Formats: sequence, C-alpha cells, structure tokens
Amino acid sequence: MTGRLIMVSNRIPTEAEPSGGLVVALHDCLTANGGIWIGSSGDAKANPKDGLYQIASGAYDRYAFDLSEAEFHNYYLGYANSVLWPLFHRRADLMDVQPGYAEGYLEVNLRLAKMLAEFLRPEDVLWIHDYHFLPLAKCLRELGVENRIGFFLHIPFPVASDVPALPEADDFTGWIASYDVFGLQTQADVKRCAILFEQRFGVPLGSDGMIAVQGRRFMPLACPIGIDATGFRAAAEASEAGARISMAPDQKLVLGVDRLDYSKGLVQRFEGFGTYVQDRREVDPKATLLQIAPPSRENVEAYQDMREALDLTAGSINGEYGEIDWTPIRYIRRQVPRDDLAGLYRRAAVSLVTPLADGMNLVAKEFVAAQDPEDPGVLILSHFAGAAEQMGEALIVNPYDAREMAQALLRALTMPLDERKARHAKLWENVRTEDIVWWTDRFLASLMSEGMAKVA
Ligand code: UDP
Repeated sequence: MTGRLIMVSNRIPTEAEPSGGLVVALHDCLTANGGIWIGSSGDAKANPKDGLYQIASGAYDRYAFDLSEAEFHNYYLGYANSVLWPLFHRRADLMDVQPGYAEGYLEVNLRLAKMLAEFLRPEDVLWIHDYHFLPLAKCLRELGVENRIGFFLHIPFPVASDVPALPEADDFTGWIASYDVFGLQTQADVKRCAILFEQRFGVPLGSDGMIAVQGRRFMPLACPIGIDATGFRAAAEASEAGARISMAPDQKLVLGVDRLDYSKGLVQRFEGFGTYVQDRREVDPKATLLQIAPPSRENVEAYQDMREALDLTAGSINGEYGEIDWTPIRYIRRQVPRDDLAGLYRRAAVSLVTPLADGMNLVAKEFVAAQDPEDPGVLILSHFAGAAEQMGEALIVNPYDAREMAQALLRALTMPLDERKARHAKLWENVRTEDIVWWTDRFLASLMSEGMAKVA
C-alpha cells in the first residue's frame, strides 16, 4: 500500500492496547499498515470540541471528534439506532422516524467528510465501518475526493421491499454506489443488495462482481468477519469461569450470550427452551438455560418493551416448571468479561444462537473456538444469523418455531460423541481459517485490487 490506511468507525478506542474482537483487528491492521483511525469520542459532550483532535500516536494515529447533545440524539440514538437498525434487521414496524433525525445524521456525515477531506493525501485508502456512516463516501465525492473508499456493513443488508420504508430511500442507493467496495457479511446480503439495484435501475450484478450505476462502478463483496480463533481458544483453556457454575451432575448447561436486543430473538428462544422443558420425558436430559444478556441502548423505547416481555416469559417458565433444586432459566442482565465468557462456552453442552436477524453473530464462532475438541458442545444456530452461511455443520433452526428449537435441543443434548466431534472439527476448521486476519486481508485486497475502474 503506497498511501496510508484511514479507518473510520463510530467510536474510537481510548486504551493504548484496546480489547474486543473487531477493535483489536483494526488496531493490528493499522499497526501493520500505518495510518489513521478516526471515530467519535463517545456519548454527547456538553461542550464539544471543534474538529478532529489527536488522542494517540505511534505506529498509527488516532483522532476523535465530539458529538454535541443534539447530534448524539439525532444521528446516533435517532437515525442510526431507531431508523436504520430496525429497518436493516427486518423490523420496519419498530422504526421511529422523527423530524431532525435524518438531518442530524447527514450533518454529522458531512461534517466528518469535510474533516476527512482535509486529512487525505491522494494515495490514501479509506475504510469506513458500519451503518452510522452510509452517506460518508457520497459526501466525500461531492467534496471532490477521488480516493479509493471501502465500506463494511456489519449488520444485515435490508430486504429490497423494505427499503421504501426509509424516507431517504431515493438517496440510499447513491450512498452505496459512491463506495468502491461495499463489504457485506454474506452472499445472501450481496444478493439482497444486487436485487435492490436491479429493481431500481434495471442493472444486474456483472459477471465481474461489479454493479455499474449512476456513472460509477462498485463491488458488493461478501466478506464474512471472523474472530481471533486461536487466541479465543487459548482464553477458553485458561479460564476458570466454567467451574464457578454450580449444577447437579445430571443437569446439562445450555448457554445463550447476546446483547439485550430485539433482533436476538430472546423471547422466542425462551419459548423454545420452555417447550423442551414442557415436553421433556423422564429419559431426556435435564437442562438449564443460562442466558447472559447485557443491556444495550436502554434509552431507545423499543428496547424497554422487549425487556419487559423477556422478564415475563422467563418468570412464567420458571414459575411453571421450576423445582426446588432446579431453575430452568437463569437470566443475567449484566455484561460478562470476554475471558470469563470463553470459560462458560467451554463448560456448556449446547449454545443457543437463535437471532431473528443478525449480520454475522460472533458468539457462534467464539463458542466453536472455545470447545474441547475431544468433548465438544453442540451449536444450535438460527438460519437468520449470517454465520449460518459458513457454519452448516451446526444444527440450523428456524428461531420462530418453538417446537423445532425444542427438537434441536433434544438432538443436541443426546448427540453421540462421534457426531459431536465430527461436526465440531468442520466448524473449527472454518472458524480457524477464516479468522479476523483473513477478513481484514480479504477486504483490503479487494479494495486495493488493480484494474478496478472507479468510473464506468
Ligand atoms: N460479549 C461480551 N460480554 C457479554 C456479552 C457479549 O464480551 O456479556 C461479547 C461477545 O463475546 C461477542 C460480542 O460481545 O464478542 C457480541 O458480538 P455478536 O456479533 O455476537 O453480536 P452484536 O452484539 O455485535 O450484535
């Protein structure tokens, strides 16, 4: 790479050695390539500073920008999390379109584009992350920036027939087409993107993988994100968290780990588990579901409703089926450190990863990495998690069907060791090879690839 790599993500980490999967990957990628990482300093600031300011330097530089209270409300809580998030997760019914949201979102993107334009040298390459910055390339192009710009969407691409629910639907395709590479988690996402452009402009996805539209050519690229697989396996081997779970020897642990988000299908999961408990015969294994669900975005209304529904469902299942020495569902609404999670995954006989819509779902990959290959647990995975495309050896379920989930639980809890090992070996092979380094390399190679004409 002759120019610098400039990475943009919603939040900039402040620690010298940041932790957390994606953040570490971007940190390592920038440390190797040099460059700049730019992101917001976090929640609203009462007295926001003007412009970008440097917060760290070294192998690469980090710059932050502040958000005012109005920007945080309209751009972050509003448009990004109350309009785009539900729409992209197939919950257009939960969209909360309010005056000022779209304007705030566009203003933040334009302000950032102006700050970026000042930074850029002609050979620099930009890599923008996630739905907070969809219009950023369009804003940059309008300022005359011709650098190579890539984007990665960490969440699902919306269904074409849902896009008209977005008041800015007419602009949406132009935002996307302003990138050179538009990275998506799965082939299914690429297909949805291609269908949107075909329906709107009558142009198909070319045999070269490009879509030519509005005088530009861009590549929708399936580039599934991975994890630091060997690092996570080592953390699981070292963790003692699994030993802290007290359970009777005849009981098996079923684990769920999800942010408290309506896209994760937690109510449906509790109902599926409740159906297993209800239908369980004397010979079937007794299981406890440990659900770890740290709260997120508590100031967005749709989240409060979901939390109440979840409390009710868990309470009713425990009340109906619990026994003096057995609580069917243990539900922890707190963040658990990742190293402890690694040990819990390893202790679990089954992991239930059953989102209704999910870009990838890293928990599915972490669970596989954490297993003892000689006695691995079984992954039950929703058809609607992006991970299902790579992880066909999991037990794939329809998360809306409680009975199917209950049957999958019985199958997982009674699966012979040979079958568990065979399924796990294939899953691990994928998680290990298509890891986080593979992902950054693949995306940047596509973005840098020669002969990719920016203008048709
Ligand atoms: N996680 C964590 N502590 C928790 C719950 C989750 O560290 O209590 C981590 C988990 O290990 C995973 C990430 O948060 O790395 C969740 O990523 P995923 O792709 O599954 O879902 P997202 O929250 O990004 O929708």
